[in-house]
Amino acid sequence: MTTDFPGGRLTIDLGALADNWRTLRSISPQSECAAVVKADAYGIGLRRAAPALADAGAGTFFVAQLSEAVTARAAAPGSAVYVLNGLPPGAAAAYAAAGARPVLGSREEIGEWAAFVASTDADPSAAIHVDTGMNRLGLSPDEFRAMRAAGGPGFAPALLMSHLACADEPERPETARQRKLFAELRALAPETPASLANSAGTLRPETSEGDLAFDLRRPGVSLYGANPIAGFASPLKPVVRLEARIIQVRDVAAGETVGYGGVERMRRPSRVAVLSLGYADGILRAGGGADGVPGAAAFVGETPCPYVGRISMDLIAIDVTDTPHAQRGDWAEILGDHVGVDDLGRACGTIGYEILTSLGRRYERTYV
Ligand SMILES: *Cc1c(COP(=O)(O)O)cnc(C)c1O
Repeated sequence: MTTDFPGGRLTIDLGALADNWRTLRSISPQSECAAVVKADAYGIGLRRAAPALADAGAGTFFVAQLSEAVTARAAAPGSAVYVLNGLPPGAAAAYAAAGARPVLGSREEIGEWAAFVASTDADPSAAIHVDTGMNRLGLSPDEFRAMRAAGGPGFAPALLMSHLACADEPERPETARQRKLFAELRALAPETPASLANSAGTLRPETSEGDLAFDLRRPGVSLYGANPIAGFASPLKPVVRLEARIIQVRDVAAGETVGYGGVERMRRPSRVAVLSLGYADGILRAGGGADGVPGAAAFVGETPCPYVGRISMDLIAIDVTDTPHAQRGDWAEILGDHVGVDDLGRACGTIGYEILTSLGRRYERTYV
């Protein structure tokens, strides 16, 4: 007999994922469109996402760690897979054996890779990361200039890349400044393909210093339906649908409170539905409601039902007073056509990225 009565069901639309990749590709058709699939494809599942993207036409993938590259290479054979977090000490042979390309971001990493490829007949393909203002990973502009002046790096890089710090806020001047510096640095290695744009730079490639597309773009979160640019009319489709089961519906009198700490007091005689899902499932506790602080909202049918009170580990209460039909066994939409990952992120004081990568492990998962 089945013991499987999941509290949540997660439906991942691989067709929408492929459509989003095609939409992003078509924005700058002269530039290759890669796919960033780090963190298990932003929580939706790398093993299923990579083949769907490869079938749509993606040939280049970016992950954060070597173990993810191994999964991506198995799921999308023949594709180029770059590892954004670079080369750990002593790891060059393991990268080569896995067919993974490190994104080299320091003189030490470049030195180790150059020494390794000089001593073997391994594929030397790797990217070089230059820092143009983020101060996270990458060679400083002066380090890169010095390396080029000395004739380095000693092998032919497959990609020169940098990363944008503020592209999700198009009015910020930093993006054009980064674009200008990157163009200056890539002119020192004109034979190497260049890459600068993330999702925001892919969706809005134009700056006062020219186009952000270069030879290859690296969208991540937008593939999964999130819109990184607040207020931008995004052409992307939702990829993730998450529903929670209603366990029980109860009446709560006006003036009573709901949940831990009694932080939210009902203002009218209310019906409250309790959902079988909580912060242990990645619905961040900050998304709960309190007096004067509205929480996130679920949808029952077409009706928005605000979260009431604190989110528990395994439970969320929602106000279904305006949905008299809601009953035990029904499903409420947590994410989907009515509630985007960006909407839930905002209600939780965070961003769609964190909602996606927090998606829990005890849902029933269906890929369509
Ligand atoms: C994560 C990441 C991306 C993708 O960013 P999105 O905002 O998700 O599109 C691109 N490049 C680098 C270096 C990254 O770390």
